[in-house]
Amino acid sequence: MRKNMSDKYDLIILGGGPGGYVAAIRAAQLGAKVALIEKDKVGGTCLNRGCIPTKALIACTNLYDKIRQAENYGIKTVSSSIDLKYIIDRKNKIVDKLVKGVEFLLNKNKIDVIFGTGKVLEPGKVEISAPDSRKLLVVSRKLILATGSHPASLPGINFDGIRFLSSDNLLDYNELPEKLDIVGGGIIGIHFAQIYSSLGCEVAIYEALPEILPGIDEEIIATVKRILKRKNINIVTGTIFDPKKANEKTLICIGRTPNTQGIENLNLKMDGKSVLVNEKMEASIPGVYAVGDLVSRKMLAHVAYEQGVIAAENAMGLNRTFNYDCVPFGIYTSPEIGSVGLTEKEARLRQGFGGQAKENIKVGKFPFAALGIAQAIGEIEGSIKVVSDGEGKILGVHILGPEANTLISIATIAIKNKLKVDQLAETFQAHPTYPEGLQEAALNVLKRSLHIIN
Ligand code: FAD
Repeated sequence: MRKNMSDKYDLIILGGGPGGYVAAIRAAQLGAKVALIEKDKVGGTCLNRGCIPTKALIACTNLYDKIRQAENYGIKTVSSSIDLKYIIDRKNKIVDKLVKGVEFLLNKNKIDVIFGTGKVLEPGKVEISAPDSRKLLVVSRKLILATGSHPASLPGINFDGIRFLSSDNLLDYNELPEKLDIVGGGIIGIHFAQIYSSLGCEVAIYEALPEILPGIDEEIIATVKRILKRKNINIVTGTIFDPKKANEKTLICIGRTPNTQGIENLNLKMDGKSVLVNEKMEASIPGVYAVGDLVSRKMLAHVAYEQGVIAAENAMGLNRTFNYDCVPFGIYTSPEIGSVGLTEKEARLRQGFGGQAKENIKVGKFPFAALGIAQAIGEIEGSIKVVSDGEGKILGVHILGPEANTLISIATIAIKNKLKVDQLAETFQAHPTYPEGLQEAALNVLKRSLHIIN
């Protein structure tokens, strides 16, 4: 800790994850003197225990799967095997490099990063306990809370890191269990199911709800279940997991709980376990903002980034708002899932949405198997679905297939900028590429498909 007692700032940010560090950079760009308080490592959950480490592992298991399919491409390989310790080391090196990158950015933006645990004493006044037990007091005009979230557990179960594991624990395991039970069939559970099954582990998923992947397009879920079953992943839905019957290793990923420790003194209005904010990311006390997993309607890193930017700009006197209408997300299943906007079911349920009766909802689809590039590369599973209202307004796009995570960005630009289906359909794409499939799905809404029968 290198600061003096009672340092004064324009803005204090509590938590250096995606919400907090991006807010710090944006406020500094706008001329603020900023203190960023972090008790662990900058980059937060996303960089250290979430988005990036899981994708570093998935990159290895996807490659391993591909190598095992090499004969389908006429390539003979000698036998391949996994070195889990190397895979974990590689993941750690990637994380370390990116953490250093964030530190560099914060430094170049002249942000005071103060390592220690922050406790808000009152609005604009934060006490920091440093790792060496020293205390520091910092004061500011404005405060952004970005303390993130931690894995939730089942009643009566503690994460012991041996039998009952959180996603944090599993990311550093370099011994492969024979069997892994996964409680929770959401995005994180499905990611780990795929990683561990590719590594050769016997995996079962237990989901209390009637379906895995809540909120995802129903046809996509049906296909994903088929794919997971093909990989010998056992999926049990509509069943409460009984911990007494737990296997040698049980991963519990039933959701995440916002971190409110350190901000209790503010007595902010809450929305369940999350801090209640308005669309400007203001909490119930003037000058106090909250962002990211702490406000939690969609616990995604890019939501935290954007909310961080908006909170910083508003704290600096600008006037920006956040809304949840056009939040894309990607899931690194194999093949990938990309989704933005309303699902077909949501659109039909929202009778009168956009002034349209539910029967006016239109849907266009295009299977990857009908796409030249998908056949050439050998990634033909899945399809693209475009949902629109009767006037051609695009309400949602849902993709299961190769590069779905990247393709969804085209759909996001279209929805965000209120493009109509005919505009997407009449934007011709390079050949042979996956975006042609998105154009074809839009053409299919208009019953003008060129490469499938309408
Ligand atoms: P966090 O990233 O949790 O950061 C909060 C920070 O605040 C932490 O560094 C913490 O140490 C610090 N902190 C907390 N309290 C204090 C205190 N009192 N004093 C000082 N510091 C404090 N999202 C995606 O968009 N895409 C993905 O692919 C994806 N994959 C994921 C995979 C996994 C396994 C997990 C667990 C999450 C994943 N997420 C993904 C979600 C994403 O990581 C979070 O939405 C994102 O990190 C939230 O950012 P945040 O800034 O709100 O909080």
